[in-house]
Amino acid sequence: MLRFCSLASGSSGNATLIEAWDGTTSTRVLVDCGLGIRQLEARLQRHGVSTPQLDAIFITHEHSDHVGCALTLSQRHQIKLFMSAGTWRALDAPLAGAPLTLVRDGELVGIGDIQLRPFTVPHDAQEPLQLNCTDGARSLGLLTDLGHVTPYVLSNLSGCNALLLECNHDLDLLERSSYPAFLKRRVGGSHGHLNNGQAAQALQALLHKDLHTVIAGHLSERNNRPSLVQAALSEILGCAPDEVPFCTPMGSGEWHSV
Ligand SMILES: [Zn+2]
Ligand SMILES: [Zn+2]
Repeated sequence: MLRFCSLASGSSGNATLIEAWDGTTSTRVLVDCGLGIRQLEARLQRHGVSTPQLDAIFITHEHSDHVGCALTLSQRHQIKLFMSAGTWRALDAPLAGAPLTLVRDGELVGIGDIQLRPFTVPHDAQEPLQLNCTDGARSLGLLTDLGHVTPYVLSNLSGCNALLLECNHDLDLLERSSYPAFLKRRVGGSHGHLNNGQAAQALQALLHKDLHTVIAGHLSERNNRPSLVQAALSEILGCAPDEVPFCTPMGSGEWHSV
């Protein structure tokens, strides 16, 4: 059984917990760790997990809303840490005993009963990766922090049973926001973040009968509204808008089966 929950989502921090259970043992991977230690541990506890029970931490890219306390946790509890070489170089942090493994696009990473397949996305980071996660039976797509959806991204997520999908901003709200022009260009650019329309298009391309869970994530608090996200995705999913789950900065609040 594979399940996941978002512990934090958005520009103030991102962390997603994935858990596989084979009947006797659990494997737990934390994807991104963009919170301070106390907050992160409190949110793990709320989901019944203590920090030493984490088998690995995977960092998708070097932006601070994704890295947070990852190095400290890894060093303190000897939790395996995975990231791309580009992300590691960009962090420019002292290694000091953290059990680090560098990974690259397309290279499978096995952690207990969970297999991760990282893939490259267009984002303004050194070597950003997003993930397809599977326990061999079901698969979960994690897709945030990308400026546009490429055929390569879609090919890496085809057939997934659950999807955490970035719906960062609404184009009109971004345009009218008080952000300085350079920031509007960055967020809305081809290596920034997905807007609601782009997310809906991606969902349309990925839709199949066994994709049963879609959760909107990485919503901008200033340049988006949950109601706009729900309207955009419900049109593709063919459900009522209020049936589309979304993450707040506090995450998704519950476990979701894959
Ligand atoms: Zn981010
Ligand atoms: Zn980012």
